[in-house]
Amino acid sequence: MTTKGFLDYQSGSPADPRVVEAMLPYMTERFGNPSSLHSAGDPAREALDAARRQVAALVGAAPEEIVFTSGATEANNLAIKGAALRPKGRGRHVVASVIEHRSVVTPLKYLERSGFEVTFVGVDREGFVSPADVAAAIRPDTALVTVMTANGEIGTIEPVGEIASAVKEREPGVLFHTDAVAAEAWVPLDLSTLPLDLVALSSNDICGPKGVGALYIRKGVRVESAIHGGGQERGLRSGTENIPGIVGFGKAAEIARVEMSSDAARARALRDRLLDGILGAIPDTALNGPRERRLPNNVNVRFAYIEGESLILSLDAEGIQASTGSACSAKTLEPSYVLLATGVKHEEAHGSLQLTLGRWTTDEDVDRVLDALPRIVKRLRDMSAFRPGMSYDKGSFRHEEHDKRTDE
Ligand code: PMP
Repeated sequence: MTTKGFLDYQSGSPADPRVVEAMLPYMTERFGNPSSLHSAGDPAREALDAARRQVAALVGAAPEEIVFTSGATEANNLAIKGAALRPKGRGRHVVASVIEHRSVVTPLKYLERSGFEVTFVGVDREGFVSPADVAAAIRPDTALVTVMTANGEIGTIEPVGEIASAVKEREPGVLFHTDAVAAEAWVPLDLSTLPLDLVALSSNDICGPKGVGALYIRKGVRVESAIHGGGQERGLRSGTENIPGIVGFGKAAEIARVEMSSDAARARALRDRLLDGILGAIPDTALNGPRERRLPNNVNVRFAYIEGESLILSLDAEGIQASTGSACSAKTLEPSYVLLATGVKHEEAHGSLQLTLGRWTTDEDVDRVLDALPRIVKRLRDMSAFRPGMSYDKGSFRHEEHDKRTDE
């Protein structure tokens, strides 16, 4: 496995070798179906139960509160559509933040087309959602609130506990959902003490295999099933379980539970050196997202007079993989709606670079970026049509100037 120069963990991570080792027997000799009555199903059933305990333990849940899915996209869909469409739901209104992942935004758009109303609550310049703003958006017909635990793009760790408490205080019957994917590897979550009803998790984000995830559903909360069939996963998610994937997710959760604080401390030290190195060496550069209450593996900076795609390609030519805009939808050339929501202007969003670190990031990876990036930025700026004095120069770069202009 080589991850040299790979600084785009938000887009995907290798599986931990310990995870792969745990998975392998379930693709060969332990191939049985956990629903079988005969003994070939026993190892699969035991493995499924063990993985459910391991994933539950990572987030302070009970095993029966975990439903395995094909990933966080499916978990978010099950949570949002399943909560909104449940019989005897409170009404047809949903509240969400404006910086949710596409796997939350798109089901919300689907609900809008089906007659629901969605209120999108804004964020401040660092991407923080205000508990008071969310509570104020609650109506008598609000069925669900969804706010992510952390934003993987700009690193903002949201005060989800406070937001959920504010919602429950205002209206205890409103369900609260959070997409915890960006946070789950770095921020301890204890669902036994937090008033969260539905929590989406992904295996790959904790160095497990891709294509597997889970939805935590608090005991007593009912959601409508998304996939109908043989009744697996308490009828909420039919289909023969992906046993190798689920075993890998369980193992990854067990490793994350034990190693989270050391992984986070390591990542934070590397991240700080990377961030301070970039901001110190390259002029006309600013941080996107907060400095404090930030995911320890996230760097996101904007460079004036630069176009992100050229930056990514130039870095790739030097053996560094990074991202601009949202890593999960890198095929679109639209500027990131997350950055725009924080008040960053279109051209600044296009000139943004996102670097995300993971379990195998080393000092050498940081050195490689700190060596290559100042050179690349200088070269691109020298050629740029956006630099000062050129016809495309629209002037301001910093927020203050942006605000001044929009206030006028
Ligand atoms: N939510 C967030 C915050 C994500 O970053 C991702 C992508 N890793 C998803 C949801 C979707 O996860 P998956 O690709 O496992 O369906």
